[in-house]
Amino acid sequence: MLKKSQQLWEKVLLILEEKVGKSSYELWFKPLKLFDFKEDLIVLEVPNRFFKEWIEENYMSYLLEAFSEVASFSGQLKFKIADKDKEFKKEFTQLENRTKKLASKGIFLNPRYTFESFVVGPSNQFANAAARTVAEQPGSVYNPLFIYGGVGLGKTHLINAIGNYIVDNISGLSVLYVPIEQFTNEVVSAIRHQKMAELKDKYRNIDVLLVDDIQFISGKAVVQEELFHTFNSLYEKQKQIVMASDRPPKEIQDIPDRLKTRFGMGLIADIQPPEYETKLAILNKKAEKEKIKLPEDVCQWLAKKIKSNIRELEGCLIKLAAHSSLTGTPITIEMARVVLRDVISDEDRPVTPELIQKTVAEAFGLKVQDLRLKRRTKEVAIPRQVGMYITRELTQLSLSDIGKHFGGKDHSTVIYACKQVEERMSKDENFKNQIKSLIEKIKP
Ligand code: ADP
Ligand code: MG
Repeated sequence: MLKKSQQLWEKVLLILEEKVGKSSYELWFKPLKLFDFKEDLIVLEVPNRFFKEWIEENYMSYLLEAFSEVASFSGQLKFKIADKDKEFKKEFTQLENRTKKLASKGIFLNPRYTFESFVVGPSNQFANAAARTVAEQPGSVYNPLFIYGGVGLGKTHLINAIGNYIVDNISGLSVLYVPIEQFTNEVVSAIRHQKMAELKDKYRNIDVLLVDDIQFISGKAVVQEELFHTFNSLYEKQKQIVMASDRPPKEIQDIPDRLKTRFGMGLIADIQPPEYETKLAILNKKAEKEKIKLPEDVCQWLAKKIKSNIRELEGCLIKLAAHSSLTGTPITIEMARVVLRDVISDEDRPVTPELIQKTVAEAFGLKVQDLRLKRRTKEVAIPRQVGMYITRELTQLSLSDIGKHFGGKDHSTVIYACKQVEERMSKDENFKNQIKSLIEKIKP
């Protein structure tokens, strides 16, 4: 490796250390090696497959940004697994080949997200059955299929599984998977470059359209308009439409009723947070697939500690496996406590307004500052009321102290806020469940 490339790499590492913090840096970046550095391709060598998986999921944008900062690099970034494990290499190559083959036809599905790798339990049984039916008989049973559920519960997995199944089992059908952000970008770009005809051609002449994260269409009138016509055109031709969202159609804000109605015209299926047993099954399946030695007690501990997010559950497992393989020590509860201390909280962690604010802000997609500052905007009003309500429920703070934490409100504002929340909880079952699960997440 050229000396100059090595120097650039060291600069990249410095930037990364700054960005991700010392402990993440030590675990994930220090063990990496620069393998190749060309104008349009950088290859990093990772110690094993866990690194590849984790970094691709969590740190790709950091790496690309850092490379573009030190070397104005804008090409591709790839990983080479140093692992001697031939079996895994083979599997990876197979998956990568499949990805490439599909991508050449304009299909961007994640090959790992299949029905076979999806663990079914009471919380996702209904959505899974609906997805399977649609995959087996696209366009003729449930159209559209609308899947909704919280973050990390398997929506993207399920709609990719539909796509993968169709690609593998029904020949001649064209499938398109698109996250709504990408659709948005394409619409904007088509308008700018006067290429609307191409866009229409692309989206209206397919057999199966899988749209992910449709909630992000809120407030984007032009994109809504385009989606509306795409929808009608496909629907009339009995082409299958599947959508995934973090909330049901009627709760997607700032979209016209005609879209809401269409979203709900077929079948709406929800995914609930997984039960303890489902979490155990998911962990065991993943551990088995990745050949990770996961002791039963650690598995139970993880399933108990991680409340509802399956992505987080898998993330913990990968983190433990990476640590274990790097240090050559087996996974134990003691090790898990240390390695996962950022993710999994202590039993006797105190409930503070800061913790409540962090959790509430995350749930509503806000920054903690939004809840603390004086600003009064519509978007923060309800989250802030929720924060005050939960703080009153879970801490001993006086009303006026609570007010101080939430933008310097006085105690009567806190009383009003709590009343509002209670009233809404009594009328709105979904809202009530949301508050309940927030409280569960915060309470040790
Ligand atoms: P969402 O789109 O709902 O936020 P994802 O589909 O991205 O969630 O799922 C997050 C991670 O959890 C993915 O790696 C996915 O494979 C995994 N996952 C979710 N549900 C299951 C399940 N029932 N069985 C196996 N893996 C699952
Ligand atoms: Mg998703």
